[in-house]
Amino acid sequence: MAPRKLAAGNWKMNGDLAALDQIDAMAEAVKGASCDVLICPPALLIPAMIAKGVVAVGGQDCHAEASGAHTGDISGQMLRDAGATHVILGHSERRADHHETDETVRAKALAAHRAGLIAIICLGETGDQRDGGHTLQVIAAQLAGSVPEGATAANTVIAYEPVWAIGTGRTPTIPQIAEVHARLRADLSDRLSDGAEVSLLYGGSVKGANAAEIFAIPHVDGALVGGASLKAADFLPIVAAL
Ligand code: PGA
Repeated sequence: MAPRKLAAGNWKMNGDLAALDQIDAMAEAVKGASCDVLICPPALLIPAMIAKGVVAVGGQDCHAEASGAHTGDISGQMLRDAGATHVILGHSERRADHHETDETVRAKALAAHRAGLIAIICLGETGDQRDGGHTLQVIAAQLAGSVPEGATAANTVIAYEPVWAIGTGRTPTIPQIAEVHARLRADLSDRLSDGAEVSLLYGGSVKGANAAEIFAIPHVDGALVGGASLKAADFLPIVAAL
């Protein structure tokens, strides 16, 4: 089965109730979209965003346990209970700011799967790792370490997000993205035997102006978009390009 196409927005720690007007502004275009459209806002906005019924809504992180003494954390179960369908895991900002390792990400992905969520597992090399010629090695190790047993095309999405491309306006060349996505596809089909293909997203400075050429790359099934997902006027051209 061909992978599902997904335009996903990651609002990070941005947005307030007034920002939900942007979701209203997406309504018509999302109805006619030929891909799935997802926004992952700050957790407090999830119920109000879901109530609009315009886009699928996801979290930006979840704890590896379903409940317990973990002040400030949110579980996958809680996200699911609120109506979220997806959760972003292992974003490089969480790997850096919260010291998340592949092992942490894998445990969180298992928890997300148990809760019935689709885990969007992020991976990507730093600028130094790319300059040192280690990109494919880093990607393969992160994939092997972060994707849990039981991952399938139905419950897992992989997002390739080079750390040096996030929020910088710099993107890899087309052959660089193609090389990584081909490797991800090959490694995943060795690992997952359910016959269906996991959706592979590219993320890092995606905008309306570069979306079409990125989506034309083999094994790119969509995008994980940060800055350009905050405003409907910036996000909708990306959705339309998919
Ligand atoms: P960006 O962020 O689109 O602002 O570069 C992407 C991401 O962090 O998911």
